[in-house]
Amino acid sequence: MSKQGFTTRQVHADRMLNKPEHGGVHTSTSNSVLFEFADAQGIIDAFQGKRAAHVYSRSSSPSVAALQNMLNDLEGGVGAVCFATGMAAISSTLFSLVKAGDHLIVSQYLFGNTRSFFHTLSQFGVQISYVDVTDIQNVKEAYQPNTKGVYTETVANPVTQVADLQAIGQYCEERGILYMLDNTMTPPPVFYAKAVKASLVFCSLTKYIAGHGNVLGGAVIDTGEYNWQTFENISTDYQVADTAQWGLTQIRKKGLRDLGATLSPSSATSVALGLETLAMRLSRSCQNALKLASFLDNHPKVTNVFYPGLASHPQHFMAREQMDKGYGAILSFDLVKDIDPVAFINSLKLVICATHLGDNRTLALPVAPTIYFENSAEEREIMGISDTMIRVSVGIEDTDDLISDFANALNSHCVS
Ligand SMILES: *Cc1c(COP(=O)(O)O)cnc(C)c1O
Repeated sequence: MSKQGFTTRQVHADRMLNKPEHGGVHTSTSNSVLFEFADAQGIIDAFQGKRAAHVYSRSSSPSVAALQNMLNDLEGGVGAVCFATGMAAISSTLFSLVKAGDHLIVSQYLFGNTRSFFHTLSQFGVQISYVDVTDIQNVKEAYQPNTKGVYTETVANPVTQVADLQAIGQYCEERGILYMLDNTMTPPPVFYAKAVKASLVFCSLTKYIAGHGNVLGGAVIDTGEYNWQTFENISTDYQVADTAQWGLTQIRKKGLRDLGATLSPSSATSVALGLETLAMRLSRSCQNALKLASFLDNHPKVTNVFYPGLASHPQHFMAREQMDKGYGAILSFDLVKDIDPVAFINSLKLVICATHLGDNRTLALPVAPTIYFENSAEEREIMGISDTMIRVSVGIEDTDDLISDFANALNSHCVS
């Protein structure tokens, strides 16, 4: 990694990596779906992979390719593929890499839609064991001869369980299985997936990377840590050239080209703009989250606060060891039972009631009756989600304004 600081690199990444036309500092939004070849041999070579070129924008386009370069640089990988959404990145990648009869070890604490997708995947004959990934022993015990990989998030939402990321990386390396890590909650510079030997990093670009709540996107980045020659599911068609590219080649062909959830060029431009200020926004959000978590933790009307930055959090020590510049900006809490969480959320004036996270604005949501509505009470219990839990995605507002909004809302509700 270069010696320049994170933001210096992000601010200059587009012009340095992509060398935009006319000396521009941004790659322009290029909306062409088709690309002309002056000579028919050129398009033949492009189709046969003998020459790198854009041929049809479902599979690649200049604006998306520029963003992929920047995201790959961010994680220090060997390549990246963008998709229309974070869910598209996850589902398209898994559909391209696993087959009926394979087994995956999956975190029992997952973003709700990802959990729902794994249920769908199991209907296609992929066996799945859900385990508590905060303890490596559970991962080891779930291993089977047909295990193809482990899938987890860094910090889970809403209860903020922290996976034993380092130990999982070591174990996957020993077993020669894929380590798939969703780093949406703690993107660089807070946490580098490559540092724990993750094979593939997933990211919902919609969240912190874009940050402004005005664009959807997703990506998968190959860190280069995994040896694809040991992966049985790479089609011989894609076992060509550089072995480091085998995985991404199959993901591009089977996942992006065949399933078709392509990121639009204009979305790529918006995401790239967000990336420039990622470190500043994330750092501010993480600081606000720690202060708000401490405030809530000390408030008599609040019973439980879940935030990895609090010393009382079950994985606080692990989070401190694994994360460098903050503990993320998601926290959850329960109010004393006399206060109705719905009425409480209604009394917040600044904080927005919305289901999204990683935004510049602070958002609050009652999670059990919304995003976990489709899950049974038992499933919610396994994930540690209480019926009254409120999730907060902390934004970049001035800290005092944020805390006073919570303080005023708490004061407006009486406890008998
Ligand atoms: C939001 C989110 C996703 C899905 O991303 P979309 O861009 O909304 O499809 C995946 N994983 C995590 C951890 C998320 O928070």
